[in-house]
Parts: sequence; C-alpha cells; structure tokens
Amino acid sequence: MNKPTVLVIGAGLAGLAAARKCQQEGLNVTVLEANSRTGGRIWTDYSMGVPMERGAIMFHGTQNNPVADIATNLNIKLSTVDTSSLDFGNDKKFSLTQLNASHDQFWELVHKAGVEARKTQEDKSLFEAMLPLLNEYPTLNEEMFAWRNYFLSLHSAAGAKLLSAQNWVKDELSLEGDYPFVIGGYDKIIHYLSRDLNIKLNTKITEIDYQQQIISVKTQNEVFNASYVIVTIPLGVLKRQEVQFKPALPKEKQNAINSLAMGILDRVILKFDTIFWPEQTHILGMLAKEYNSFAWFNNYHLYTKVPILVGAVAGALAQELEQLDDEAIVEKAMDSLKQLYGPHIPKPKAYIVNKWGQAPFTYGAYSYIPVGASGKDYDELAQSVADRLFFAGEATIKEYPGTVHGAYLSGVREAKKIIDLIRN
Ligand SMILES: Cc1cc2nc3c(=O)[nH]c(=O)nc-3n(C[C@H](O)[C@H](O)[C@H](O)COP(=O)(O)OP(=O)(O)OC[C@H]3O[C@@H](n4cnc5c(N)ncnc54)[C@H](O)[C@@H]3O)c2cc1C
Repeated sequence: MNKPTVLVIGAGLAGLAAARKCQQEGLNVTVLEANSRTGGRIWTDYSMGVPMERGAIMFHGTQNNPVADIATNLNIKLSTVDTSSLDFGNDKKFSLTQLNASHDQFWELVHKAGVEARKTQEDKSLFEAMLPLLNEYPTLNEEMFAWRNYFLSLHSAAGAKLLSAQNWVKDELSLEGDYPFVIGGYDKIIHYLSRDLNIKLNTKITEIDYQQQIISVKTQNEVFNASYVIVTIPLGVLKRQEVQFKPALPKEKQNAINSLAMGILDRVILKFDTIFWPEQTHILGMLAKEYNSFAWFNNYHLYTKVPILVGAVAGALAQELEQLDDEAIVEKAMDSLKQLYGPHIPKPKAYIVNKWGQAPFTYGAYSYIPVGASGKDYDELAQSVADRLFFAGEATIKEYPGTVHGAYLSGVREAKKIIDLIRN
C-alpha cells in the first residue's frame, strides 16, 4: 500500500516539527518553503563573525520546553540575561532596589489592569486600563512608566495602546525556568530538525484547492498533490490573502485571521571597534517621556566578546522607523546612544537592520491579541478543515503564541491529528 502523503507549507519551526513527526510515523512528507532558506522567523546571521539572531533570540522559559531541550542536547551556548543590570547613561543612576521596585510595580499594574478590565463588558486597550490605576504605583513616574511600556512592547511586538486589556495574557502563560539568549546559533536547531526531510526551497504556494479528497497545492508553475496538507504560513501572510483557498476558508477561521493582529519587533545590530558602554551591564536604556527612536540595547560583548550592541524597537514605533532606509535607521540608533554616552562615540563598522513588518513570507514578527480579539481566535485558527487541511504555527496556539516552543508544539499537535485520523 502507498504511504499517505502529506504536504507541509512552510519550513519554520512549526512546519519542521510537523514534518518530522509525520515522517517518524511512516508518512510520505514534503515541505514546501517559499524562501531560499529554512527557519522562517529563526534566522541566524554570521556576517559579523559570530552568530547573531535576526529573528527569535531567546527561550521563553526553559522548563518543559522541547526546543530548549534540543539546544541542550546539541550543546548550543545559551546565556542568561540579567534584566535588572541596566544603565541609563551618564546622568541617570538608579539603585537596584529602585529598579526592582519599578519592575515589580509595573507588572503588578499590568496584571491589575487586566483583572479590572475583565470585570467590564467592553474591552479596551491595556494602556487605557492602566492609566486610572497608575497613581497607586509611586515608582512609576512618567519616564519610568514610558520605559517599562517600551519593554512591554518588545515583549508583545505591540505597545499597550494596541493590546487587549481583557485578553493580553502572554505574560501569564510563559513556561517556567530561565529566559536565556541563544548565543551559539539558533539555526543549529533548524539544521537539526531539517535533517532527512524532503524540503523544496524557493517554492511559494499561491493556491490550495481542497475541494477533492486529494488536495492540490499550486505555485506559479508547479502543482503538488497530497491527502493531507499542514499550513504553517504566518498570520501576516494569511491576512494578505497571498494564498487562495478553494473553497474559501470557513467564515469563523477568516474572522479569526482578521481579528488577531501581527506585531512588529525589529532589531538593529551594531558592531564597533571598541566598547564605549559599561562593559558588565546587560542592558542600556534610554529614559524619556515619549519615544521616537531606539531606547533599548543589549550588550552582546558580554556573550560574544565582540563589541556589539543590539537595539530593539517594536509596535507602532517600529512600523514608523521601517519607512526609513537602513542607514537612517542606524543613525536613529546612534542618536540614542549619543544621548546616553555623549556625542563622540565611535561610528559602527558594520550593521544589520531588520524590517520584519515588510519581510515577505512573514509581514510582521509575531501575533498579538488586539482590543476586541481573544484567545478563542487562536483556537479558531487551529481548527482543521474537512479532515484534510490542518493549521499550525505560532498564531494557532493559544497557550504559547508568538514563541518558538509554541510554533514547535503546534506542529506536533497537527501531525498527531493526521496520524490519529489515519489510524482510526
Ligand atoms: C524579531 C523576532 C524576535 C522573536 N523573538 C523570539 C524569542 O526571543 N523567543 C521566542 O520564543 N520567539 C520569538 N519570536 C517568535 C518566533 O520566532 C516565532 O513564533 C516562530 O519562529 C514562528 O514559527 P512558525 O513556524 O510559526 O512560523 P515561521 O517561522 O514564520 O515559518 C513559516 C514559514 O512559511 C513560509 N511561507 C510563507 N508564505 C509561504 C508561501 N506562500 N508558500 C510557502 N511557504 C511560505 C515562510 O517563509 C516561513 O519559512 C521572534 C520573532 C521575531 C520575528
């Protein structure tokens, strides 16, 4: 008897996990990937002589995290980031006690705003929900509140003004354990998961016709057929309707695609000849009442021994900065660093700029729940259609959206659904 055939669309973590699981169970699997590389939103860049991550960078909790387990087995170097090791430049000094207090108070405020918002009927933004409670938290003056919100936006790829107060729960859903940076190259995990798989690169799917028992999947000039298809293309791509489904996807699923939102998180990676910042500090931050540029830099010298800073920006500000060309974005980052360490700091000798909002095949960094949407939308996205079309990816897993382990687990989940169908 012929082995049942499965096509997996997308060779990111969800697609690779799904394909491996199906192949292990003896199914005939092909992965179709639009890009010229595997990994999707995991993308390691070696142009600076050390592995630097353009996409995912850390594990959101190492306990019961299957991807962190792979990293451990492969001996990939990880480094814990001390988020209380902060420097706000030459003229702003805080004690550790002050910093810890403002950190704790901010997250208490976020939590309380969510609790209060869930008591009301209508959803509002997390920001709106926080404002009336703000004066209960004395360490959060205007600047510190803005700074903590800046971090929140890095965490969720969208600022508090966009997030649903009632349903913004990512924080509460993280796994236990550390949040280490992957220093030794996230791509090693991708190579490990890709081994022995039949992956066709540069294969951009434009249509999935699932009217018949045998599904036909089309590119501009090729057609592939299979009994089962697992779609892992990102929410940003689904939103743009770059892939036509025949028949159209069920209304509930299309509504969920429209309701959830794709956030932006961008980094600028700057390599210098020398260090001009405090060598032992993990994070360099800029305090301001409002932000129009990078306000957060990770000191990568600590992990790589190379003078590298990684600036991060997210949400509406990232979207705005993406309109600039790469040189202008680097200038923006340098302006922030000059505010912190004076006008005479050296110029970077190399840089990497990311614009995830514009990245073809992704159109954003990861999903978030905007005002009016909820976790149910993730469940809806995960629903299979007609027992032959399956959906995986970070935006299909309510428990761990926007994460690598979420993507991985969603891929395994969908593979299991197919295996169960075949067995029964
Ligand atoms: C800047 C950034 C930072 C992040 N930081 C972290 C972090 O620190 N920790 C963490 O846990 N997560 C992080 N994430 C999120 C994490 O990277 C993602 O949740 C996860 O990698 C998504 O995997 P996926 O398989 O769902 O999607 P993807 O990795 O996007 O895979 C989908 C694949 O589908 C392909 N595709 C798209 N359209 C088509 C088409 N038409 N035909 C064929 N193929 C197509 C894409 O090219 C891609 O390879 C970050 C993401 C970004 C962008």
